[in-house]
Amino acid sequence: SPEGITTTKSNDLGEEEQDGSTGAIFGNMVLAANVGSPADIPLVQKFKAHGVGLYRTEFLFMGDQLPSEEDQVEAYSKVIAACVPHLTVIRTLDIGGDKKAPALKLPEEQNPFLGVRALRLCLRRPEIFQVQLRAIWRASAAGPTAVMFPMIATLEELVQAKELLFSARDEVVREGYPVGELQVGMMIEIPAAAWNAKRLSSEVDFFSIGTNDLTQYMLAVDRENNELADLYQPHHPAVLGMIARVSQAAEKAGIWVGICGEAGGDSLLAPFFAALGIKELSMSPGSLPKVRQVLSKLTFEGVDKQKFVERILECGTAAEVIEKLG
Ligand code: PEP
Ligand code: MG
Repeated sequence: SPEGITTTKSNDLGEEEQDGSTGAIFGNMVLAANVGSPADIPLVQKFKAHGVGLYRTEFLFMGDQLPSEEDQVEAYSKVIAACVPHLTVIRTLDIGGDKKAPALKLPEEQNPFLGVRALRLCLRRPEIFQVQLRAIWRASAAGPTAVMFPMIATLEELVQAKELLFSARDEVVREGYPVGELQVGMMIEIPAAAWNAKRLSSEVDFFSIGTNDLTQYMLAVDRENNELADLYQPHHPAVLGMIARVSQAAEKAGIWVGICGEAGGDSLLAPFFAALGIKELSMSPGSLPKVRQVLSKLTFEGVDKQKFVERILECGTAAEVIEKLG
């Protein structure tokens, strides 16, 4: 178990609580699922996720035709309704990089991961973005909903995205559609945004850290390149240090932080995230039982959480981090 951390074992929990799905989780952290479509709802239910922390909407856009507003309202509403009373976090379109959308007929780029990806594309093609934003507002009537923008590097992009979001709200409300309360967040997956989290925090209700891209961009390693797989290190102390910086900025600003990259489902890292005060871990549904088990046994009795975090961040290598957490 992690250095300096005590764990407790309960023997008197009911069957449901044995896997922690209704029992106490350290810090009341929310364990949510990552999904790509309503077809994933049975997995959300099977693994008893408390909501969806990342709904990757781009899969709707990968066919030969773009989805209509109605198609989108239907898909989003299904997921939101299935998660009630828990929150569904819908991520706006993240096409580009590894995710292709033939219907958009995008020009080839030399460096797609550094190119017109995600929100960058949406801000350049507002007619597509507007339809999605309208659909998200309309779907928000189905239950607790949040929206988040991927691949933000600058404050201006966030401000622009929010302007489009609220103009879409005005439109659908004017047309008489019911809308819900929508939490507005952004992904932190570009180092410049992570570094600038303090300033960005005043513009959003939450941050969701995308560790897959944050790792890729911090270590300058293509996340898809097998040749460099050993250098693709989510446990690198610089990545974890950046996450710590983001969470400290968010805490000062009074907004919550989730982790939705693969690291969110890493049971080795879960105590580190818990010590940082991360509110939600969102992961592939199959990772939920292990992470839940770790967090339901975790206590920091007699351990200074800040010191624990510092000891991890003092490491010089990912291997050292893994050894300390192991
Ligand atoms: C991430 O980058 O960590 C993330 C969750 O987004 P995706 O894997 O879809 O790029
Ligand atoms: Mg990403």
